Amino acid sequence: GIRFEKVVKRFGDNVVLRELDFAVAPGERVTLIGPSGSGKTTILRLLMTLERVDDGVIWLGGDSLSHMERGGRLVPADEKHLRRLRSEIGMVFQQFNLFPNMSVLRNVTEAPVHVLKVPKSEAAERAGELLEMVGLADKADAHPSQLSGGQQQRVAIARALAMRPKVLLLDEVTSALDPELVGEVLDVLRQVAETTDITMLCVTHEMRFARDVSNRVLVFDKGQIVEEGSPEKIFTDPDHPRTQEFLRAVI
Ligand code: ATP
Repeated sequence: GIRFEKVVKRFGDNVVLRELDFAVAPGERVTLIGPSGSGKTTILRLLMTLERVDDGVIWLGGDSLSHMERGGRLVPADEKHLRRLRSEIGMVFQQFNLFPNMSVLRNVTEAPVHVLKVPKSEAAERAGELLEMVGLADKADAHPSQLSGGQQQRVAIARALAMRPKVLLLDEVTSALDPELVGEVLDVLRQVAETTDITMLCVTHEMRFARDVSNRVLVFDKGQIVEEGSPEKIFTDPDHPRTQEFLRAVI
């Protein structure tokens, strides 16, 4: 799972996260919603170690993202420690970010072969299963430019899963898609949610996403959680005025 303990993140004078505490249990699927600028993407970037905390601790499983134990003492995390932790996290972005010059199959096998040193044939077999799961087995030899946005995003999901991550981070994965393509990506993610025990942390403006894929919603405002609850509760009977205001603006 994931745990944020009194995490503070500033950019200059701008305090983006203020002693933020929250946890996502193993296998849980949590959606972060809230106004633009409330710090949601920063949370994902901290988890990917693309940013560092100014204070507090982020835990991934039993490991801290900032420190590690050596000889019974806590020392700053080194690059090797961070590489191992990063390999436990899969990420899917708003802009699919596929490798444009590689086939769909190569996109999915590339990291397992080069990072995890999985034999090519085994990686190809696993990629075939994943492409089957996302409904793109017949596109294995295509290049990304030949696919629709929804298809590219489904390849990106297969590519992330190929690394067998413990945690999957999803950052606005439907917001660059034409509305008629959102459903196919949501269907795939719902299937991932139902058939795997991967911990999922999603940032989205798509309320359907929060409702279909997650079992808990955290509402952010100004770097803190103002309300949390099941999707049903948050969308039908929110307690906090900021949540009500936010939902009125997006639904
Ligand atoms: P959105 O829904 O628009 O993506 P968000 O909730 O994800 O918003 P963040 O992207 O986490 O919000 O940004 C939170 C705040 O941090 C914003 O005020 C933003 O301007 C600021 N910020 C984010 N990254 C940086 C950076 N690299 N340098 C300076 N300020 C940054």
